[in-house]
Amino acid sequence: MQIQPFSVNDGEGIRTNIFMAGCPLRCRWCSNPEGFEKKELIGWYRRRCIGCGACAAVCPQGIGIDLDALIACEREVSKTGHDSCIGCGACVKACPEDARTRMVTLMDADDVIREVHRHRLFYSYSGGGVTFSGGEATSQPEFLDYVSRGLYDSGYSIDLETCGCFDFERVRPSLERMDLIFMDLKHMDPEVHRKYTGVSNERILDNMARLSSLRHSDGHGCPEIVIRIPVIGGVNSSEENIMASASFVHDVLPDARMELLPYHSLGKIKYEAIGLPFEQDDFYTPGRDEMKKLRGIVAAQGVTVADYR
Ligand code: SF4
Ligand code: SF4
Repeated sequence: MQIQPFSVNDGEGIRTNIFMAGCPLRCRWCSNPEGFEKKELIGWYRRRCIGCGACAAVCPQGIGIDLDALIACEREVSKTGHDSCIGCGACVKACPEDARTRMVTLMDADDVIREVHRHRLFYSYSGGGVTFSGGEATSQPEFLDYVSRGLYDSGYSIDLETCGCFDFERVRPSLERMDLIFMDLKHMDPEVHRKYTGVSNERILDNMARLSSLRHSDGHGCPEIVIRIPVIGGVNSSEENIMASASFVHDVLPDARMELLPYHSLGKIKYEAIGLPFEQDDFYTPGRDEMKKLRGIVAAQGVTVADYR
């Protein structure tokens, strides 16, 4: 989805974030909806569009200005066989207003490694490195394995942000190269979890407990673990849920820390760009006092509170 240099919120020091598309969850509060599917994706920011038609003039598929019409067409493509976007990028180059943009691009793994090398001075000066994020990086296990091995063998610090829903043994070699793993915990109730994310939490809780079995590939130490709760007001922000989450983490991962991040709705414009409805009106952003209280509940369960923001 993106290779984002100079991040300071996703691990130690200055880091390059590698956002990889594809995710088994469909969290209703997701701020990166372009990462739902593993496929090239072009976005259309209609508010920037001046209607010049340059995109339509170069499109080899005969697609017009309104990319939303294309997206609607794509949803029916299996039924109708309509032509649809092949992600060639011609319209992106032609657009004078940056209204057409690449949201997801197919990249060669070696090119990703080369891109990371370009920023190596920043990592060495700041104690930083690379963080795999998403979407969901574990949804491309071979790619993650190849790139993480290349970076690990070059001596980079590598971290992972994950939703926790993956085949643990398949991803284990990549996990054991990580200095730090951020794993999300969205709700302790399996049915509430399913309602808001599309899947139950059983596999995630199971994988969380298995993190304690990880050992670094070189035999020295193990990855640090931070369990992250995206605190969505109206969904998982109750004191009972936060207490149950912290109690679970304390029991299965006694050395792990927890980080609580308040919900934000910054992804709204991306939903528009890819023609998906934005349905987050019933969520709210917990205030400073509420977040402080919830962090206090975590600490009272004997879990250290982390803060990378
Ligand atoms: S990426 Fe290519 S195929 Fe897709 S809308 Fe743009 S010009 Fe057409
Ligand atoms: S080229 Fe860009 S500005 Fe012109 S019609 Fe297409 S999307 Fe709009």
